[in-house]
Amino acid sequence: MAIARVEPLTTARALRGPFDYRLPPAMGEVGVGIVLRVPFGPRRVIGVVVEMAETSELPPERLAEPIEALEAGAPPELVRLGLWVAREYCSTPSRGLQLVLPPGTGSGGQRVHSRTELIVTPTEKTTAALADGSRLGPRQRALLENLADGEMPLPALTASTGASGATVTSLEKRGLVTTRRSRVRRRPRGTALGDGRASLDPTPAQRDAIAAVSAALDGEAGARRELLLHGVTGSGKTEVYIAAVERALAQGRGAIVLVPEIGLTPQALDRFRGRLGETVAILHSALPQGERYDEWRRLRSGEARVCVGPRSAVFAPVAHLGLIVIDEEHDPSYKQEGDPAYDARTVARHRAETCGAVLVAGTATPRPESWLDLPRLTLPDRVDGRPLPPAEVIDMRDSSPRAGPLHPATLDALDRVAAAGEKAIVLINRRGFAPWLTCRSCGRHWGCTHCDVSLITHRDAGRLVCHHCAHSEPLPAHCPDCGSTTLARAGAGTERIEALLAERLAPLPVFRLDSDTAAGTGAHARILSSFAAAPAGVLVGTQMVAKGHDFPQVTLSAILDADSTLRFPDFRSEERTFALVAQLAGRSGRGKRGGRVIVQTLAPEAPSIAHAAAHDAPSFVDGELERRRALRYPPYSSLIRVNLASEQEERVDGAAAAVAARLRAALPEAAELLGPAPMFRVRRRHRRRLLLKSARRREAIDAVRLAVEGLAAERGLRDVAIGVDVDPQ
Ligand code: ADP
Ligand code: ZN
Ligand code: ZN
Repeated sequence: MAIARVEPLTTARALRGPFDYRLPPAMGEVGVGIVLRVPFGPRRVIGVVVEMAETSELPPERLAEPIEALEAGAPPELVRLGLWVAREYCSTPSRGLQLVLPPGTGSGGQRVHSRTELIVTPTEKTTAALADGSRLGPRQRALLENLADGEMPLPALTASTGASGATVTSLEKRGLVTTRRSRVRRRPRGTALGDGRASLDPTPAQRDAIAAVSAALDGEAGARRELLLHGVTGSGKTEVYIAAVERALAQGRGAIVLVPEIGLTPQALDRFRGRLGETVAILHSALPQGERYDEWRRLRSGEARVCVGPRSAVFAPVAHLGLIVIDEEHDPSYKQEGDPAYDARTVARHRAETCGAVLVAGTATPRPESWLDLPRLTLPDRVDGRPLPPAEVIDMRDSSPRAGPLHPATLDALDRVAAAGEKAIVLINRRGFAPWLTCRSCGRHWGCTHCDVSLITHRDAGRLVCHHCAHSEPLPAHCPDCGSTTLARAGAGTERIEALLAERLAPLPVFRLDSDTAAGTGAHARILSSFAAAPAGVLVGTQMVAKGHDFPQVTLSAILDADSTLRFPDFRSEERTFALVAQLAGRSGRGKRGGRVIVQTLAPEAPSIAHAAAHDAPSFVDGELERRRALRYPPYSSLIRVNLASEQEERVDGAAAAVAARLRAALPEAAELLGPAPMFRVRRRHRRRLLLKSARRREAIDAVRLAVEGLAAERGLRDVAIGVDVDPQ
């Protein structure tokens, strides 16, 4: 008897699958990865076959039969990967499986389908009918004339002749045309094939790196399969990736290229498609679902062999996977925030290892984890041979707060850019106009009513906005407490810097790039191309300006408040700050005129800032590893965070204490449990956080899962949301 073990796609955490179903012979070919509609108690649900079996623990008469098999499923390799992710990140099998299924498959079933169109073909009677012609109406005649060169799709016929489906039907009845349905591909927009540029002559350093990756792909003795490509910005890492992908394709294998969320600009895609052509598919959540579905199918069928996309592309159905590239491997967008909170870099390593693929992680600012674990390939210089611009660190502690957010030296450098007709990039990692609004008379401070945070002044929108929830309110004209109209807007965000520079540097154009201006579809690319097209100008923005582009005319980059990321109470803040400063510094001086970098900071001696200013990644990472070893932080331990939230403070306290108690009882001795610590309130919800630090990763993950599931099963977690975050960022 054929039995399918099915994992239902539901959100319930307590459900213990998989469940056995008897397969009737009429169901046809069913195997691991197929999506089925099955009866489940009184309901019907969608489920995925995770295993095939001959026998069941239940007697055959108690086994139900599936109702139907749906169109497409995931390959077995990916089903195993989805279940692994569920386990590794303390999620449910259902949520893990959702990651690997065709786009649009969910608890509601398959919502996206292939699109087809009617193809109309002439028959041997067509010519004769046109010749005698008496019984043809004008539309029918026009349609048949259009078919003189052979078959055409109905939409094209309709466009050129006005003929409708009915016209075709009547002609078909008379045997003058035949029709069939054919699948049409919904092609992602803005990713036209590039100009097919020939490959560049690699530099000696690129050649060495390509040789090392090729050796790994060829499985040469002693070649490691995981590699860190450490190349300064502008050193030509993409050429190495492309050569590696070409090698994998030549071996008959496929490849995945992961890029940061924000790096997925049309220009970036065109670099791959321009060289590798139609075999490149794109998977990105910003694509309309139909296009995403078709790209997924192209990969699944083997028509496309290379997938480029952000973190979720690590689950692309690429067969015979030979290579996974992780571009800008330091980028935080590789970590998923929702459940499962997977890290695409960890998933990529696991997937590459299980299928014998080679992994290449590239960056100018390696993570300590990768530095320690992976053998290194180095591209020490920029391709153009130009030195990295020296960075000038400006100590803002000397500057009075009244002097404004830009130091006189920074203003002077910007004036020179304007005078010379050049370009500059200014980074301030905070959007809005000003982060604090207070009343000068009574000291009232504007905070969010739902969260314990300040409201940010957004002058363009005329509103005060909370950056943690959806709350916003009109900008006040006077203080509601004392009636005073002298309200102070303290601090600066991107809007304020934009306004300040637009006034000072006019008529030099100033562009702003942050998640407010880049909100609409294509807006991000539009702002970048306006800046690229302008003969001179300034680009002001959040960390978005430090990524995914290459402007040769930029002669100055400035980062304001460079230590703002250091003020987050997080052991990764050093690493973040280093990457941000180093990446921005790399944006300057790519052209003939060279460049300057200015770093304004309150913490000039912080190692992250000092080393980034000196473009010294090795010293920074070595120092960082030492610090982490002393504090037993990753990569010398694993961290697991449990986040709890509830509108009722007692409930969240009770649940946090219960999880902590279970963990203390169950934990291996090597683990350290911190908390429950209170976090500031967001969306009216009180939050608590537990942090587990352990050198025994597997045991710790299992203990957390059992504690959370046990609590959910035992008393229900009414009104308390619990999330587990393995390797929190
Ligand atoms: P990275 O990703 O390391 O910052 P890129 O791959 O974006 O660097 O390359 C920077 C620039 O150098 C690009 O414009 C690229 O076309 C060019 N480039 C790369 N390799 C070569 C080469 N071997 N010869 C000439 N130009 C190159
Ligand atoms: Zn007041
Ligand atoms: Zn809020």
